[in-house]
Amino acid sequence: MPLLPRRFKKLKSILNRRISDLTILVEQVEKPHNLSAIMRTCDAAGVLEAHAVARETKTRTFNSTAQGSQKWVPLKDHKNIEAAALFLKKQGFKLYGTNLSVDAIDYRYCDYTGPTAFVLGAEKWGLSEPATRLMDAAIYIPMRGMVQSLNVSVAASALLFEALRQREVSGTLPQNGEGLPNEIYEKILFEWCYP
Ligand code: SAM
Repeated sequence: MPLLPRRFKKLKSILNRRISDLTILVEQVEKPHNLSAIMRTCDAAGVLEAHAVARETKTRTFNSTAQGSQKWVPLKDHKNIEAAALFLKKQGFKLYGTNLSVDAIDYRYCDYTGPTAFVLGAEKWGLSEPATRLMDAAIYIPMRGMVQSLNVSVAASALLFEALRQREVSGTLPQNGEGLPNEIYEKILFEWCYP
């Protein structure tokens, strides 16, 4: 089917606002509804690419909660948390590990205007010990209720939208594809136009 001009314009306007230096890394988050909700939030927040470390034995699935967002936000797999952390650090990302321990910092007091990766842990046990050691900072979202933690996708959402808020205030949100090298921009646009 030929690509309609209106569709092309829409794809371009979404890609123009994709953010290459804001991402999430999920460590063993495997429930399809959680992963799906996280991918949908990444798409909504304009994340260009997300990252995951999964248990070898599990095959990843998404459900209708994702609303197809996994087509628009690639989820890059890493073989373990060390490889994932190295990959992101090499690109200049600061790793913010979510951690409910007492020495974690209230997430509202960190600066997410530079390259930022939020690292979220498994539904049952949170971030692993090796992951925690690799983080640049530990952050938490303060809560006031009886239950000990937020759902992981809700936590991802609060963090990503705080980063967006900060970038909006600092005027650093891309509007015209800034920050995406031209060849990458053209490659993604082509893939989106002709999936
Ligand atoms: N018992 C686990 C623990 O102690 O970490 C709870 C895991 S929680 C259900 C799953 C993930 O959601 C966490 O690893 C973290 O990434 C995120 N999360 C949940 N509540 C959070 C909060 N208040 N602040 C930051 N991240 C949170």
